[in-house]
Amino acid sequence: MKNKFIAGNWKMNKTIADTKQFINELIPLVAGANNRVALCVPFTDLATAVELAKGTNIAIGAQNVHWAESGAFTGEISVNMLKELGVEYVVIGHSERRQYFGETDATVLKRTLAALAGGLKPIVCVGETLAEREGGLMEEVLKRQTLEGLAQVSAEQMADVVIAYEPVWAIGTGKTATNQEANDAIGYIRGILAQKYGDEVAQNVFIQYGGSMNEKNAADLLSMPQIDGGLIGGASLVPEKFQAIVKAK
Ligand code: PEP
Repeated sequence: MKNKFIAGNWKMNKTIADTKQFINELIPLVAGANNRVALCVPFTDLATAVELAKGTNIAIGAQNVHWAESGAFTGEISVNMLKELGVEYVVIGHSERRQYFGETDATVLKRTLAALAGGLKPIVCVGETLAEREGGLMEEVLKRQTLEGLAQVSAEQMADVVIAYEPVWAIGTGKTATNQEANDAIGYIRGILAQKYGDEVAQNVFIQYGGSMNEKNAADLLSMPQIDGGLIGGASLVPEKFQAIVKAK
């Protein structure tokens, strides 16, 4: 069985001072953990986070990246800028970026291809809204987001891709998908990947669940066979809660 991959998404939270305190507290709490651990932090915290996490089992990720190498894209950050800092992962296509910042499947694809070409590992987020789920459109949405967001990604590149299934209705709401709902949706995404890339690639790709995962429900969610880990928002802001998810059994 694969180890799990637990990644925190701090969203727009924590200053550099907060980051120092958090990571210094977290390092001993997760040292020796079997699961893979990452923290995806705001751009301003990246340098500090990378420095503090050096030589530990905590990887650092960003929360967005632009597809161009450089140029007139005010407010954006390039792959090379993140690589130079020592960043390993980047969240792409989070539902908050789709909802508030005009992210589309087409821009998810551009960012993902650029990240992979430059040696960053993308955590590509997909997930249906409540209206889509209730309208019977969940599978259609997941299929479209997965296939379009990864359209020109090769089978070899899939070794560096992580997918996060995050039903929009469960993010930051305290409403979690049931273990079965999360498992079924991830199984569906894996099936789509199997059709495109074959069974081996589909089995090997890490597909996380995200949406109000916390220290209380993590063990049950992570015990499901399709769920390879978690992308954690709110509960990643408190070291004790985050470490309990990392160590959940
Ligand atoms: C997220 O931001 O990706 C997320 C899943 O948030 P939360 O855990 O707070 O629902």
